[in-house]
Amino acid sequence: MGKRLSGIFPAGTNLGIVSIGMLMADHADAIVWRGPMKTKAIQQFVDEVDWGELDYLVVDCPPGTGDEPLSVAQMLGSGSHAILVTTPQQVAVADVRRSISFCKVIQLPIIGVIENMSGLVCPHCAKTLSLFGSGGGEQLAKEGDIPFLGRIPIDPDLMQSGDNGTPLIGQAIDSPAFKAIQTIIATIQSSLSS
Ligand SMILES: [Zn+2]
Repeated sequence: MGKRLSGIFPAGTNLGIVSIGMLMADHADAIVWRGPMKTKAIQQFVDEVDWGELDYLVVDCPPGTGDEPLSVAQMLGSGSHAILVTTPQQVAVADVRRSISFCKVIQLPIIGVIENMSGLVCPHCAKTLSLFGSGGGEQLAKEGDIPFLGRIPIDPDLMQSGDNGTPLIGQAIDSPAFKAIQTIIATIQSSLSS
């Protein structure tokens, strides 16, 4: 094993992150890799990143049922769980429906479904606009007989914090997305500790 990679910890947080993008010399470069190379990179992220002591390791997989989620599930082994994230509209729900089957086939326990980009709270009148429809995530959870973890609205603060590289957690306490995320995290934690 070579030099260990370090997770990046944004100032003032205990949230470490690592991604292939951080290892690229030029951020405009595209990564054109076949399956085996992706699998190797995932292996290195699992085995060779020095995270220190972890409470949770969250792996953000691309949508679908391809090599990446399969590699991640196999490498992390027993004790790992899946959280499925969908947007409310039917084309996205159809993808995540396949992910539910995928988890069942590989016997990866599912904690639940989150509906993301679930409406936009208008900054002018505080009414919610359902840009991508609504209820698709909850319906899917019901169909698959798995828990529905909640809805996260579209939130300009969330987009801004992503672009700035500063997590929303700990800053915008009043944001509807922040409140939704907090509730969802608490539900996930209690599901994992029960
Ligand atoms: Zn409005």
